Amino acid sequence: MNDVVVVGAGPVGLLLAAELRLVGVGVTVIERAAARSPHSKALTLHPRSLEVLAMRGLAGPFVREGVPVPTGHYGGLPVRLDFSVLDTRFPYTLVLPQLRTEQLLEERLRKLGGEIRWEHRALEVRQDADGAEVDVAGPDGTYTLRAAWVVGCDGAGSTVRGSAGIDFPGTSATTTGFLGDVVLDVPPSVPSVDNEHGGFLVVPLADGHHRIAGTTGESHAIPADQPLTFDELRRYVRQVAGTDFGMRAPRWLSRFGNASRQAARYRDGRVLLAGDAAHMHMPMGGQGLNVGLQDAFNLGWKLAAVCQGRAPEGLLDTYHAERHPVGAALLENTRAQTVLGATHTADVRALRSVFGRLLAAHPAVNRQFAGELSALDVAYRPAVGKSGEAGETGEPGEAGETGEPGGGVERGGAGGGRSLAGTRAPDLGLAGAPEPSLYPLLADGRFVLLHLDPGGDAGRATPDGPGAADARATAEAIAGSPDRIRTVTARPTTAHDGWAGRSTVLVRPDGHVAWDGALSSK
Ligand SMILES: Cc1cc2nc3c(=O)[nH]c(=O)nc-3n(C[C@H](O)[C@H](O)[C@H](O)COP(=O)(O)OP(=O)(O)OC[C@H]3O[C@@H](n4cnc5c(N)ncnc54)[C@H](O)[C@@H]3O)c2cc1C
Repeated sequence: MNDVVVVGAGPVGLLLAAELRLVGVGVTVIERAAARSPHSKALTLHPRSLEVLAMRGLAGPFVREGVPVPTGHYGGLPVRLDFSVLDTRFPYTLVLPQLRTEQLLEERLRKLGGEIRWEHRALEVRQDADGAEVDVAGPDGTYTLRAAWVVGCDGAGSTVRGSAGIDFPGTSATTTGFLGDVVLDVPPSVPSVDNEHGGFLVVPLADGHHRIAGTTGESHAIPADQPLTFDELRRYVRQVAGTDFGMRAPRWLSRFGNASRQAARYRDGRVLLAGDAAHMHMPMGGQGLNVGLQDAFNLGWKLAAVCQGRAPEGLLDTYHAERHPVGAALLENTRAQTVLGATHTADVRALRSVFGRLLAAHPAVNRQFAGELSALDVAYRPAVGKSGEAGETGEPGEAGETGEPGGGVERGGAGGGRSLAGTRAPDLGLAGAPEPSLYPLLADGRFVLLHLDPGGDAGRATPDGPGAADARATAEAIAGSPDRIRTVTARPTTAHDGWAGRSTVLVRPDGHVAWDGALSSK
């Protein structure tokens, strides 16, 4: 029997499968398509996704191939979000077509011995107490795959979600946008154009094409499944800009809608959901793929720990507790951005103008929205604790501040003196460690127990120092096995909000703090 069947070889299924293979979990990926689509829906990777890739030593090729843009758009406003203020090694949006992201992730999966069965479509999923079965239609007929766990990474129309009877509440599409990948002989000098007729973004692609995506008063009511013609695209662009910028050679024409829905549960027994299977929304701000990758990164180490008997099944409930609120926030911000960016009435134009002035005048407003879109501000209310189930403050079933059981999400890091538990660990510079900073230490997917010694003085904050045995015992209880912990003693060489004076910190395989030992007494 397989440990895990992943349904869908999109970006989310690929990263999840790679995370499972990294620690030796048996995984089969089934994909209904015969080959990868040459068309890229997503074009952006945000800072947290690049950090996630950096934690497994994968960021290099993405960064080398992509084009870094130090800003991001919010609701298509002409005042753009400034990502350069963010405390990260990747303070920008990386423009890289989804096709390349998928190809690079597939390469990673192959290197780890993962198998993708192309043209194998999941028809139905059933589960019992010990496992789950997937009926699959492949090129040679129909067969059944059995596994301990099945994860639906099969996109917004998820068969897995439907089979498991997981509700997908939300709202249906009321507006659609148009999209064209074309050559522009005379491209505009600005990244977006908008007025009372409509608005669109223009994104230069590395291969000489441009992506044009937007809405007009005429286009927005046309259903997403009605094909977009080149004449139509040209007309919409002329309606708004008075020119078609010498548009020619359309490579891909499509529409997208603003249906916003979220799975009521990310886990139902032996079935889990990640990525678009768990949340769908208007692609505003370039977030869906990014949030999906981060779902996979949160789920991967937990599912591996459960498969390998290092943690009880309840650990998987923390996946819902931690990631469902992130998906809810995603739906909220894309709804708000859709009003700002895809409605062209006088009232909404006034709202855009007011919102743009706020963004331009107040760095804190920029920081807030850049922190949200980049996902650098996602902090989990501790949901993972010593039992592998409940955290320091969240017991299973206890409603958190977010109304989520046993966990939840907060925005922002820990202030001075507050526990770091649940927050994102920055790529802390380290002297005296085997690697120059924290993220490369996470490459093999283990927990990292950091003993931080700011002054370099022996006897404190070391594996042999006071409290070290307690720290080790706590770390082992959380990680479920001594083998899954890498212990490192080092001196911090970079300063980050909330990290001054920390002495012992356990970092989870997904780069969030699992446990924050006592603050330094110095
Ligand atoms: C126009 C547009 C622009 C976008 N731009 C951005 C952006 O810039 N940044 C960003 O972050 N996001 C963006 N997104 C969103 C992003 O494309 C998605 O969030 C992302 O593709 C989700 O990945 P996934 O792996 O969850 O699902 P998918 O990419 O949908 O992959 C699901 C896979 O499952 C397979 N599958 C489906 N059903 C079955 C079945 N029954 N059996 C087997 N296989 C099955 C499918 O063939 C597919 O390969 C955009 C979306 C659109 C529409």
